[in-house]
Amino acid sequence: MSPTGHRADDLYGSDVFSLRVMRQRLPRETYRSLLRTIEQGEPLDPQVADVVAATMKDWAIERGATHFTHWFQPLTGLTAEKHDSLMAPDGSGGVTFNFSGSELVQGEPDASSFPSGGLRATFEARGYTAWDPTSPAFLIRGDNNVTLCIPTGFVSWTGQALDTKIPLLRSMEALSQQALRILKLFGTDTGVGRVVTTVGPEQEYFLVDRDLFYARPDLVTCERTLFGARPPKGQQLEDHYFGTIPPRVLAFMSEVEQELWRVGVPVKTRHNEVAPGQYEIAPLFETSHLASDHQMLLMETLKRVAPRYGLQAILHEKPFAGVNGSGKHNNWSMSTDTGVNLLDPQDETHTNLQFLVFLCATIRAVDLHADLLRASIASAGNDHRLGANEAPPAIISVFLGSMLSDILDQVEKGLPKRTLRGGTIDLGAKSLPQLPRHSGDRNRTSPFAFTGNKFEFRAVGSTASVAWPNTILNLIVTESLDYLAGEIEKRVGTSPTPAKVHQAALRVLKSILKTHRRVIFDGDNYSPAWHAEAKRRKLPMLADSVAAFPVLTQKKNTELFRKYGVLDKAELTSRANITIEKYVKQVEIEAEMMATMARTQILPAALEHQTLMAEAAGATNAVGVETPDGIAALRTFVELVSTLRRAITALEGANGKGHKSPLAHAKHMREMVQPAMADTRAIVDRLETVVSADLWPLPTYRDLLLLK
Ligand code: ADP
Ligand code: MG
Repeated sequence: MSPTGHRADDLYGSDVFSLRVMRQRLPRETYRSLLRTIEQGEPLDPQVADVVAATMKDWAIERGATHFTHWFQPLTGLTAEKHDSLMAPDGSGGVTFNFSGSELVQGEPDASSFPSGGLRATFEARGYTAWDPTSPAFLIRGDNNVTLCIPTGFVSWTGQALDTKIPLLRSMEALSQQALRILKLFGTDTGVGRVVTTVGPEQEYFLVDRDLFYARPDLVTCERTLFGARPPKGQQLEDHYFGTIPPRVLAFMSEVEQELWRVGVPVKTRHNEVAPGQYEIAPLFETSHLASDHQMLLMETLKRVAPRYGLQAILHEKPFAGVNGSGKHNNWSMSTDTGVNLLDPQDETHTNLQFLVFLCATIRAVDLHADLLRASIASAGNDHRLGANEAPPAIISVFLGSMLSDILDQVEKGLPKRTLRGGTIDLGAKSLPQLPRHSGDRNRTSPFAFTGNKFEFRAVGSTASVAWPNTILNLIVTESLDYLAGEIEKRVGTSPTPAKVHQAALRVLKSILKTHRRVIFDGDNYSPAWHAEAKRRKLPMLADSVAAFPVLTQKKNTELFRKYGVLDKAELTSRANITIEKYVKQVEIEAEMMATMARTQILPAALEHQTLMAEAAGATNAVGVETPDGIAALRTFVELVSTLRRAITALEGANGKGHKSPLAHAKHMREMVQPAMADTRAIVDRLETVVSADLWPLPTYRDLLLLK
């Protein structure tokens, strides 16, 4: 029983207008028709929409809803909603509740204030939201409000995607088509309507005390500390990871879980992460677009619930220097709509050629499009984390583990004949069970690791919507599946037999491995030796976001997006522009915040301390005691303070405008502004270690990280 008095299974999905609810409440024919739309993508019958809308409205009102909203994910990277009341005057002094099929299916929010990256001029304000019946509607409960949220896609008047969901859905469609060709070759497509991609994103985040949070203008404005000397106790003792969850935090987590269960987000795992004050929450995997919707809800729920416990949830990739940052491990696989995981190697993996085809298609995709994958996770926040000895480097490589690497070796040489076994681990105490050992160890340093029956893309940033990286991942794998299917089909001709397919597939895999093996790396991705090795292998090394941005609009990539119907050139260009502009704005805001804090908080505190020092020296002298070390310390301090003044002036000067393109501006931020920020920070962090603690105007890392 939970503290709210509900059993977990009563809570689960209780605020979701789910298939189960629809089956119970809709007329049978309506339900069947809707199911055909949901499962087979058949066009929606307008009469069906009217019946669904009326039923959805009754269901929502019974649960206290007063408003509805189309819920969508514009290119801000956040979610958007515009609420309308379900009520209308009935003309005789009372009210009726109205919600029509057309209101369910289509909305028209003014699109002019959402980022479009140049896709529209602001005077062209029309945008539409379109109901996504494959993602169920749900209720969001706040203080004094219950709102019916209807997941939608968001397009411009010209039909171009203005959100993150539409391209994700398009990429899933494209992947399905190509994956089905492979299944057909292997004769495993019987009864399979579609292949879907699945995602299970693990979310890392920090919790800090809310009062302390509000005393840090940098955290409030940028979600990241711009200053802060390293505390004596950071994560050296490694005593936080998987440690006992502090009671206040556990109470918070439980409420988050209950809220998420209500809206059907299947959260499963909770634990302390590596850095002090850092935690993780992970749901069970779902179909990509659902997982993506749910991931947005999860981030919002963390933020919404934390204040009830006097906490602030911080999702930024690197809120604190010197301790680990936060990521979002994006577990990804492909599955038939009948529930067969296509990346499950099964026991006799060396005989499972279909698996090897899907595996090698993914390897080829990652090698061929490592630059795009890198660009899909580029952001100002993630730059602070990637490669900082805690997160994978910006070089994209694939970890497979010894069992698969051994099989691929065999494929390269000819016919694979064996699958390595893990055996068992004997614990040496009779009362303990013998544990089965996996055939390969884990690797925590790889950006793209095979973990048993899925790939884990670990370089995704903790604030990111998973929709975009998954769109790109699906797209590049689509292209590889298309290539592999084409090559195999070419070799087997018009009368494929299992033996011919087998032989052809092995040949194709062999040649793919020859070319793309270079992307596989099972060693330590954190070591400097890997950088040298990656260079030798000629893997793309896009060290930061600014280096990665131009990749998005290279001709080969606009062509790739177009070919598989994921985004046209204008749509892709607009996304690239928005990503770059967001980077620039974020760094700009940080730089301004930093200069303001340094000038109006740090400098006055330092001057006060300087006065204290001077007064102490003067007073000591006045009683006839010489204090040469006091004078020397004062001199050093005065010099430090004037260094700070110069650094602030330089920072303010660097943050200039007037650049010829967003990319030029981004380069300027990286080359001029960020170094000026680093200089300023170094001085302030030194001051923090010498200025009287009473005078220091900001809560320190010790306060922020260790207060539970
Ligand atoms: P960890 O990697 O931290 O050990 P787990 O192995 O438990 O964690 O799984 C992490 C995530 O991977 C979970 O969200 C889980 O649901 C998800 N996952 C498992 N199988 C798949 C799959 N076939 N496709 C996508 N995600 C999956
Ligand atoms: Mg994991």
